[in-house]
Amino acid sequence: MSDETSATLSNFITDIIDEHLENGRFDHVHTRFPPEPNGYLHIGHAKSICLNFGTAQQYGGLTNLRFDDTNPTKEEVEYVESIKADVKWLGFDWDDRLYFASDYFGVLYEYAIQLIKQGNAFVCDLSAEELRQYRGTLTEPGKNSPYRDRSVEENLDLFKRMKAGEFADGSRTLRAKIDMSSPNLNMRDPVMYRILHEEHHRTGDEWCIYPMYDYAHCVSDSQEHITHSICTLEFEDHRPLYDWYLDQLGIFHSQQIEFARLNLTYTVMSKRKLLQLVKEGTVSGWDDPRMPTLSGMRRRGYTPEAIRTFAETIGVSKANSVVDVELLEHVLRDDLNNRARRVMAVVEPLKVIIDNYPENGEEFFDVAYFPYDRENSPTRPVPFSKEIYIERSDFMEEPVKKFYRLAPGQEVRLMNAYYITCTGVVKDADGEVVELHCTYDPESKGGMSPDGRKVRGTMHWVSARHALDAELRLYDYLLTKADPYDIPEGGDFTDNINPDSLQVLTGAKLEPSLKDAKVLEPFQFMRQGFFCADYDSKEGALVFNRTISLVDTWAKMQK
Ligand code: ATP
Ligand code: MG
Repeated sequence: MSDETSATLSNFITDIIDEHLENGRFDHVHTRFPPEPNGYLHIGHAKSICLNFGTAQQYGGLTNLRFDDTNPTKEEVEYVESIKADVKWLGFDWDDRLYFASDYFGVLYEYAIQLIKQGNAFVCDLSAEELRQYRGTLTEPGKNSPYRDRSVEENLDLFKRMKAGEFADGSRTLRAKIDMSSPNLNMRDPVMYRILHEEHHRTGDEWCIYPMYDYAHCVSDSQEHITHSICTLEFEDHRPLYDWYLDQLGIFHSQQIEFARLNLTYTVMSKRKLLQLVKEGTVSGWDDPRMPTLSGMRRRGYTPEAIRTFAETIGVSKANSVVDVELLEHVLRDDLNNRARRVMAVVEPLKVIIDNYPENGEEFFDVAYFPYDRENSPTRPVPFSKEIYIERSDFMEEPVKKFYRLAPGQEVRLMNAYYITCTGVVKDADGEVVELHCTYDPESKGGMSPDGRKVRGTMHWVSARHALDAELRLYDYLLTKADPYDIPEGGDFTDNINPDSLQVLTGAKLEPSLKDAKVLEPFQFMRQGFFCADYDSKEGALVFNRTISLVDTWAKMQK
């Protein structure tokens, strides 16, 4: 792990850990990241990964990767593999500590038997609907199940027969015997096991009873001797149950600690909704560059360093809040600024013919990839010739005030090349500008002023003869509203989908050095944004994604 993220952080979680180390409850730190393999990881999970691995690292401790695969109907092997790849990509390693909750099905079963024998659990024949009715509400206590006082022998017999497959799905459950009048609904004799005749992606048809999350999670933590079980706020009300199971069983007692989940403006973050976007074809897949998934962000051009820095910047808190997505983008720009080579690419080209340049002339300028550090920067040869492309938006036939770029009679600097002056405008039948004529000053080689005269505009350009054609994919937010929960009455989140979140530009012209760009390698297309080659990019059919524009709205807001 790199040094910059192992800096010592202090927050309410480290305060709790410090206390435990001081009072002797634990003498080390061992955390886990427990994804359910029912979707791809998103930026919210990244926060949890950074928190779990980062906190353990800070104390010289360890972190396990554990798949919470207790729900056989929704889980797939594809997800397991993508999650492993994403955690590694983020820069974290579980070494040989890869676990599955399903590894503990046997143990969980034995512990359930123990709880039955202790009089802490019973087999209940109420249907799902009856369970709901008996449960009570926040203001009314629940009612005891008529099956609550079954004998230990009967419970043992029925539970074994549940496991043996004698009963239909939903006909019986195993429940903890706690307190139907508890003000905490989670403590009202919660279900521990349900009957489900379903294949499991790892255990096949070995089991037809499956443990519920609350029971499986605390026992899994205990099995792995997790000291601090960090989870999101919605589990706060489940902590008494977490503690109850471990206390009744008398086994290693992990400490659950809750923190506020990450929410981002303009971003949907629930796996269910992300799956819906994939299934309905709103996006091209889990790794569509507009998705807040780690695989989508990776394809977009995010670096793991930027995501880790973001996680560190936002910190952890006990109160739910929404983080401005522009902060994430600010951190990304900051990171790319230090690693992206500066190159020239014309996004929407307009041809310029330099009339006084030799007909078949060609020259190469040696240009630094990192102009802010010319001394140490590698360089590449950039060709110049009689016909070049400039950005269409860099020309105005009738320039508005303070437009210092190209206009009839106006002189500008072509970055690293020459001064040129616009002498003619060619239009098509519709009056659309199709070509410009210019003259250049041979004395201004390298873009240097020949005589001290100044030009106010400096523009990027690409030699027409040497240019590479490319498709550019420009992205905007998937949602039109900053608040992802601001949903019209009777509608759902898809009503806020931005129809213009993807813009494909097919005619871009790139400088020839980009022929060797590696997929996902970051570049700054000068004045245009940060870009990287997409997985779809091939020689002769280059495709680049715009990772992010250059305008830092976050930095502006802070001023
Ligand atoms: P989702 O609501 O997106 O389906 P989940 O909580 O069901 O997410 P899990 O696979 O169970 O997804 O999550 C694995 C871990 O990541 C959990 O510890 C969970 O608390 C954490 N996590 C999930 N979403 C976020 C988030 N937005 N911010 C921080 N942590 C999160
Ligand atoms: Mg979950």
